[in-house]
Amino acid sequence: MKILVFLNFFTIYSTILGQEFSYNGLLGPAYWGNKYQTCVGKHQSPINIVEHYVEKVTLPPLWFSGFNIPRKAMLTNNGHTVLLKTIGTDVPLITGGPLRDDVYAFEQLHFHWGENDKEGSEDRINNRSFAMELHAVFYKLSYGSYKAATNFPDGLTVLAYFVTVAETFDPTYSPLVETLPLIEDIGSEAVLRDNLILESILKTNQPSMQNYFTYNGSLTTPPCSEVVTWIDFKKPHILSHEQIEAFRRIRSAEGERVTHNFRPVQPLADRIVFENIPETSHDYSHGIPNHRNHHHPQQFAGQLANRASLPIIVIISLATVLRR
Ligand SMILES: [Zn+2]
Repeated sequence: MKILVFLNFFTIYSTILGQEFSYNGLLGPAYWGNKYQTCVGKHQSPINIVEHYVEKVTLPPLWFSGFNIPRKAMLTNNGHTVLLKTIGTDVPLITGGPLRDDVYAFEQLHFHWGENDKEGSEDRINNRSFAMELHAVFYKLSYGSYKAATNFPDGLTVLAYFVTVAETFDPTYSPLVETLPLIEDIGSEAVLRDNLILESILKTNQPSMQNYFTYNGSLTTPPCSEVVTWIDFKKPHILSHEQIEAFRRIRSAEGERVTHNFRPVQPLADRIVFENIPETSHDYSHGIPNHRNHHHPQQFAGQLANRASLPIIVIISLATVLRR
């Protein structure tokens, strides 16, 4: 009877977390298609980007707005990755580049990594894997919410940053890395000490943000929806081995260390990867130009904050029950 009760809790626990998938064994990437049909679709991510075959284009500049406004950020262990969300009444926005005039709102950022520093990124460049990859997920503001946006082919855009390893460390990651020991258990969360973490970690004020690859693909976790405009920046972030190692200590639903959480590359099929060659080196960090800024992000930000808080409370109470 005790076992039955425990199993029941475990089922509820996985259901609340939203996804029953893993990076190992029978719930691993090779089997995602059994439960999630889209995961065997034709335009999946990640992919291997072969520079020789990319098509060079000059797109309108990418614009970043509101990243430099201080806001609280919450770090969560969802059992698959380390996820950062902001708390507050407004969200940062991006537009331009492959997004043209459409405005996208920040939803969350998270990371993918490998068992050692030789692998861990999802997309590859010329078959090279990087130690880690940061994904900043945005949804198209006009669809009203992240969830609604996932029903449209242009619903999401993800800014992807590759991470390489060096002797030096990136101080902008320190507030995040030092919070990781507080969220080693699944469902746990902690507030970061840096209220400007988005601007510092996403480096939205740097000219290198105009040098990127872009292609149409999918979420790299179930349900693998093919709704993502990928923007992969060419300039990698540089972390120390110790900084990356801290991510490998978080624990999954099974209580095991999440030593790796990257999906293998998928076929490119009939898709074209574009490389943006910026026309000039303007400073694009001063926000979205006025004529484009006719949306009202405030009303959506309220929904975001409400949506985030309830499931986390439930997860924490369940985690407490499980630990007994
Ligand atoms: Zn991701």
